[in-house]
Amino acid sequence: MAKSNIIIGGLVPFTTIDYPTKISAVLFLQGCPWRCIYCSNPHLFAFRKQTEQDKANYEYVLELLKKRVKIIDAVVFSGGEATAQADEIISCIEDIKEFAPHYKFGLHTNGCFPEKLSKVLPYIDWVGLDIKAPCKKYEQITTIKRSGEFAFESLEILIKSGKNFEVRTTADPTVLTKDDILEIAETVAKAGVKHYAVQRYRPVDRDNLNNPPAQMITQFFTDKEFEEKLRAIVPELEMRF
Ligand code: SF4
Repeated sequence: MAKSNIIIGGLVPFTTIDYPTKISAVLFLQGCPWRCIYCSNPHLFAFRKQTEQDKANYEYVLELLKKRVKIIDAVVFSGGEATAQADEIISCIEDIKEFAPHYKFGLHTNGCFPEKLSKVLPYIDWVGLDIKAPCKKYEQITTIKRSGEFAFESLEILIKSGKNFEVRTTADPTVLTKDDILEIAETVAKAGVKHYAVQRYRPVDRDNLNNPPAQMITQFFTDKEFEEKLRAIVPELEMRF
């Protein structure tokens, strides 16, 4: 019988891009305390109590993972902010290991709960941590005070843990400049980060009225000099356009 009271707000049953070199299923967990200006998952914001439907959803997910036990290699907890459900992640991993002891477990996090991250890390094999901006600009993206302090504290915890991880930044041209991204790369490289990714910003305004022009979005990916400067700072660089 399932032990976890996890609340899952979405599922991608099969992906090759959410855990390095592995085929994974991604569970999008409900609840996030931040309100990023580019968030594409606002339906996952709300923290709420587990319902009968949530229990049924979890049973469905376990059944699906059982059926795919020979097809996928990993399960990734994403969000929302997955670490908000740290205890439920741990019991969910225990549930899954009963039928798939070989699965790897990944975590996508914004780093907003350093203590919860510490708690869940021993159970996780790989982490993707968002560093959204230089610390002084964090609030402009997350709209939450002191959010940068929490994210950088989580980075320290992650580095000390010795786990495999990457740091990634969404290149939001409405807030970040190329100098900002170079500053992030310098900061995280000095802290000991080996793998850094710059991700393309995806406009969220479906009516297209307030979105930045395409050239502003692509500027981070078409400037070879900028890319070379970044690569000189963090050799394991990925430009995800
Ligand atoms: S941290 Fe992620 S889920 Fe939370 S508001 Fe920001 S983009 Fe959305």
